[in-house]
Amino acid sequence: MYWEKEIETIPRESLLELQLTRLKESLKKASASPFYGKVFKEMGFDPSQFHSIEDLQSIPFTTKEDLRRNRPYGFTAVPKKKLIRVHLSSEIIDDRALAVFHTADDIDQWADVMARSMAMTGMSDNDVFQNMLPYGLLTGGLGFHYGAEKIGALVIPAGVENSRRQIQLMQDFETTVIHISPIYALHLSVVFQEIGIDPRKHTHLKTAFIGAEPHSEKTRDKIEELFGIKVFNSYGLSEMNGPGVSFECPARMGMHVWEDHFFVEIIDPNTLKPVSDGQPGELVLTTLLRQGMPLLRYRTRDLTRVIPEPCKCGRTHKRIERISGRTDDMMIIKGVNIYPSQIEKKLANLPGTGPNFMIILEREGLNDHMIIKVEVQKEFFSGNLKQLENLRQKIIEALKTDIPITPKVKLVEPNTLAKIEGRFVRVIDNRKDLYF
Ligand code: ADP
Ligand code: ZN
Repeated sequence: MYWEKEIETIPRESLLELQLTRLKESLKKASASPFYGKVFKEMGFDPSQFHSIEDLQSIPFTTKEDLRRNRPYGFTAVPKKKLIRVHLSSEIIDDRALAVFHTADDIDQWADVMARSMAMTGMSDNDVFQNMLPYGLLTGGLGFHYGAEKIGALVIPAGVENSRRQIQLMQDFETTVIHISPIYALHLSVVFQEIGIDPRKHTHLKTAFIGAEPHSEKTRDKIEELFGIKVFNSYGLSEMNGPGVSFECPARMGMHVWEDHFFVEIIDPNTLKPVSDGQPGELVLTTLLRQGMPLLRYRTRDLTRVIPEPCKCGRTHKRIERISGRTDDMMIIKGVNIYPSQIEKKLANLPGTGPNFMIILEREGLNDHMIIKVEVQKEFFSGNLKQLENLRQKIIEALKTDIPITPKVKLVEPNTLAKIEGRFVRVIDNRKDLYF
């Protein structure tokens, strides 16, 4: 069940050597981008003077804020005519999403790691693969699509068709493997029930890849039980192509990060110093092969740890644990990343609001609800109710464009929302795990 056995089982020493060679190359490539060109110049750094992996410590981290400030082309390291694809991340910042650019080689290498990831779970050219993530600007659809075609599976690019149609496709073409979000998998099982089909008996399903949002071992178990299949965790982020950064092997004890493509560091998010394997911290990634848009020491903001023991499956690439949280206040709602700062900016444009607001997230069955309490100036409460209601509607309208669910808005008097140590509390996430 190896796609590229030699590289998947490469001895650690050889992998480190390969990483050093690729790191040097990646630094050189990065220096051609306006952003890193400037950073290197300012710090007097010459990529040809990079000799050991430890030298990476002298290079500053790259953050989402850097990407935002330098969009759209500040990180591209090749002439525009070499770029063949752009993808966007799911979050909107300042009314626009972050863009990631790829050359033809980048797309091919992305397909390689995807093929490797899926083949590792036993998927082959005998399989019928139904890809149920959105195709288009986001990365989940096309990322898996190209990998599955590389394996030679029969691909059904189902995208976001409605659930009954998805089930029909599964039955008509005898789908064996699916790519699906955890919450949609649970929803789909309800639709199966409604139409009286037991997916364990009346489909050919055997495997699912789930990811794109946090979920627990319990949720995985539930999906396995409902569908009678094996479920594998898939982790990625748009800035690092999307899926294909890290994937579970048949041992299903953590996800292998493909270290011939990504250099892994785990840092203490407070001191920003690396922690040793086994210790929890924030995942920081450096692209080793990407040409269109190399990224160095990119802070993912995702919390995890490296599992130090070698994996039973024989692969030598480091494993990370299921993502346990974030080091920033990003919320994931229906697969879309949302920051309180987005909401803050929208509110700031509406006269009468402020100074504080609070987001409360609730989960009812499989549906997420967002309640936003917004402080508004005192005059609104002494004026007529219609004025207050108008403001409330305006807030809903302004926020609806960025958020995949319509928020409930409650207006409250100024300085009534809780603060902790003088600081605003922006998010209260009461969403329990899907199955708990
Ligand atoms: P996508 O949501 O399509 O994976 P984005 O770039 O929009 O891509 O979001 C990436 C973020 O989604 C990650 O930084 C992480 O917080 C979260 N994420 C992705 N995959 C997983 C996973 N398997 N488990 C937990 N969180 C995940
Ligand atoms: Zn393994």
